[in-house]
Order: sequence, then C-alpha cells, then structure tokens
Amino acid sequence: ITWGCGAVFRLLRYYSVASGLALLAVTLVLVAVYRDLALDQVVEEVEAENVTMSRILANAIWPRFADYVTEHARRDGNELRARPETAEIHAATKRLTAGLNVVKVKIYRLDGFIVYSSNLADIGTDKESRGSAFAKAAREGVPASKFGFQPVFDGINGRLTDRHIVESYLPIRGSSGKVEGVFELYSDATARVASVANEVKWLSIGLVWTFGILYGVLFIIVRRADGIIKRQYADLRHEIGERLATERKLQQAVEDAENANRAKSRFLAHMSHELRTPLNSIIGFAETMVHEIFGKLENEKYKEYAADIHDSGTHLVGLINEVLDVSKIEAGAMELHEENIDLAQVMKECADMMKIEADKVGIDLRLSMPNNLPEFNGDGLRLKQIFLNLLSNAIKFTPAGGRITLNAGMDDNGGFKFAVTDTGIGIEAEHQARILQPFEQIEDHPNRSRQGTGLGLALSKSLTELHGGELSLESEPGVGTTVTLRFPPERALVAEPRLPLHHP
Ligand code: ADP
Repeated sequence: ITWGCGAVFRLLRYYSVASGLALLAVTLVLVAVYRDLALDQVVEEVEAENVTMSRILANAIWPRFADYVTEHARRDGNELRARPETAEIHAATKRLTAGLNVVKVKIYRLDGFIVYSSNLADIGTDKESRGSAFAKAAREGVPASKFGFQPVFDGINGRLTDRHIVESYLPIRGSSGKVEGVFELYSDATARVASVANEVKWLSIGLVWTFGILYGVLFIIVRRADGIIKRQYADLRHEIGERLATERKLQQAVEDAENANRAKSRFLAHMSHELRTPLNSIIGFAETMVHEIFGKLENEKYKEYAADIHDSGTHLVGLINEVLDVSKIEAGAMELHEENIDLAQVMKECADMMKIEADKVGIDLRLSMPNNLPEFNGDGLRLKQIFLNLLSNAIKFTPAGGRITLNAGMDDNGGFKFAVTDTGIGIEAEHQARILQPFEQIEDHPNRSRQGTGLGLALSKSLTELHGGELSLESEPGVGTTVTLRFPPERALVAEPRLPLHHP
C-alpha cells in the first residue's frame, strides 16, 4: 500500500511541476515568436519608407549626377571627395533627409564601388558592399534590407550611439527603366524597436498573469486531489489497521477457546481415570456382598442395596468410560488397536448380547449378513462398542412388538456398510443433526430404561470417523430409525492376496 500511494503522490507533484514548466516554455516561445514577427514588421515598414525616400532622392539628384556616378572611371577617394559633385550631392542629401529617420546615404556603382557616402570617409571604397542584399538590388533590381544594432554610428548629422539601424539597398533606375546604380539608405528604427520592446513587455506581463492564474487554479486542483487521496489513504490504513487488530483478537479468542477445550479434555481424562479406580473397588465389594462370599447377609434389604450399589456403580463406570473416550478423542489422543477381525463373530456376539435385553422387552432383534464378508481391518473392541451403542439405543427407543435389524454388507464402492434399523419412536428432523454431538439428548423423549448420557451416538460417530468411515442417521418419527456406517474399501481384507503393485 505504501509504495502504491507514494507513487501516486509523487506523480501529482511531478504533474504540477511539469505543467508549470510547460506554461513557462509556452510563454517564452509566444513572446519570442511575437518579437520576431514584430521586428520583421518594423524592417518591412522601414524598407517601404526607404523605397519612397530613394525615389525622392533619385528624382532630385539622378538626372544631374547619373553620368557622374556611372561613367566616371574608378578614382582615388581623395580625388572624388575633392570633386564639386560630391559637395552638391552632399548638400542635396542633407536637405532632403532633414528631419527624417534616414541617417546615412551611400551611392554605389553597379560593380559595388562607392561613389558617394554621407560619411565622406567611405567614398572610393567598396569593401563593405559585397553582401548578398547589395547583389540582389544591383542584379535583380529588388529592394533588400538588413537589420542590426550599432553601439556607435556616424550619421549625416554627427555621431549616434546605441541605435537599431535598418540598411536598405535600393536600385536606382534610369529613364530607360534599367538599373543604373544602388542607393544604400540607413534608417534609425530605434524608436520603433523600443515600441516593439514595450509591446513585448506588456505581452509578457499579460501572458505571465494569465498563465499564472491558470497554473494557480491547476495547482489548487492538484493540491485538493492530493489531499483527498491522502485522506482516503489514511482512512484505508486506519480501516486495515482495525481489521488486523480485530483479526488478531479473533485469532487470540480462537486460541483461547482451543486451549480451554484442551484443558477441559485433559481435566476430564484425569478425573475419569481417578474416579474409575475407587469405583471398581466399590463394584467389587458390592459384588462380594451380593454373592455373600464372606457369609450370609442377615437382612434381605442389605442384599437388595448391595445389588443397587453394584448396578449404579457399573452404570457409573460405563459413563466414566464414555467420558474418557470422548475426551481422548477430542484431545486427539485416541489410538486404535488395528487387527484383522472376523466380522461374523463380532456381530454375532453383539447380537447375542443385546438379544437378551430385547427379548426382555418383547422386541424382535435380528442379524442379517452374507456369508462371504471379507475380514475387517480395524479395532475390534471399538467396532463392538459402536454396535452395542446403536443396538442399545434402538432397544431403548423401540416399543414392545417392534423389530431391530443389525445388517452388514458391502457398499457399491467395495467398502463395508453396516446398518442398525429399528421400528421405534423415531427422531424429529430438527434434532437429527444435534444428537450426533456429545452430551446432546432430546428432552422429554420417552424411554423405558435409565436416562442415558447423550454420549453414545457422538462416540460411535467419532470412532467410525477414526476408522476413516462415516456415520449417518435417517429417521422418521413414529416409523423408525436407521443408523448407517460406511467404511472405505481399505478396511476390507480380501481372502486372496492382492497382486503386488509393480506387477500389473
Ligand atoms: P443416550 O445415552 O442419551 O442414548 P445417545 O447419544 O446415544 O445418548 O443418543 C442421544 C439421543 O438421541 C437419545 O437421548 C435419544 O433421544 C436419541 N436417540 C438415539 N438413538 C435413537 C433411536 N434409535 N430412536 C430414537 N431416538 C434415538
């Protein structure tokens, strides 16, 4: 959970930083693009003005000086400067550009030689006139301009500092329309550049504001989302913490319950064991008295009481034995003494024993089993215990004239299937599951003999399960009850030895 949420939180933070940077980048790009476009516009406008200016200049001086400029042989600068034409052109130029942005004028021959410059020192040179803008104007007759910043500039009316200058090369056309020379006009665009800079400044401020507000809104949204996620995360952690605590408590409670149950089973096992020893003495003494081993009992009443002591003691030992068995099973300490059992013998013994009881109360008890039953692998005493329990229950809850059958046979899957069926009072459906639990009985269930312990069925079920089998109960009130035991095929020992596994 920690890494998951950490990743989300960081993502949100990255997102807000990234959006801030993106807005900044967009601002810078927009400002730069706007500045470039505005400066291009300035150059274009200044060039247009220079074109007009060049026409005015041409109109004013070209008719008189065309021959001087074009046909004059290449001369030395000093000689040209001394010529009267230079002074005349200079005077005309100064007059025509007075009060305008044009701060310098040059006149080139088509080969790039400077015949006139308002900065007289340039006359007679051609070193700076080889640029492509000049060539474009001279060869193609198209105006072309350059733009740049000049810290120091020598203009017509003296020295200038820190100027943005647009230089335009402008073709001069003669009366025939042919390009005869090239003007170079230098115009001061500092004021316009300053106004562009001002516009750029305001644009930047506007954009920074707009994007700043946008970013602020975005940031607030991101922070809210962040807060919500953090709160949910905290809630989730809290909830998980509580659940873990509850789980721990539950686990503790289960452990406590298991411990208590084990303690109870240990206590019962000990108590039962301790009770059995004196009880056996009591039963033994009662028996010697009933049989008058050491001499006659004077009073018949004593003999009767001794018989009662013997019966109650025997019942008590039976009960203690069952309690001991149940607690052993619950503590997982019950061990089976497995051997190969002849079922016919065991079942006959059980049926014979219980038949005496059944006969006493007028119940017909029958044993039904095939001859060829395989031997049973298991604890013979325990199996007997199960049968006796089920049969004595059946006798207890079957009225006189009823019938009880102890049935044995093979199940469809090759395992054993035993059933004790009676035509007794039956068990209501609602009690059927409950009475399979230890100490569970049905209150107000009429039965003729002494009240039982409620352990018989539970014990039979557990003992069956210890053998890997299962006990099920079907009953209908007023019709009768069938308790069925099923044991897996592994419990059946077939007479012929099985083929070893590695010889298919
Ligand atoms: P108990 O020692 O009380 O017989 P069991 O566990 O053997 O203990 O039986 C629990 C209860 O189930 C009995 O008290 C009785 O009410 C009911 N019961 C058991 N077997 C039968 C049966 N064959 N017919 C009707 N009721 C039965």
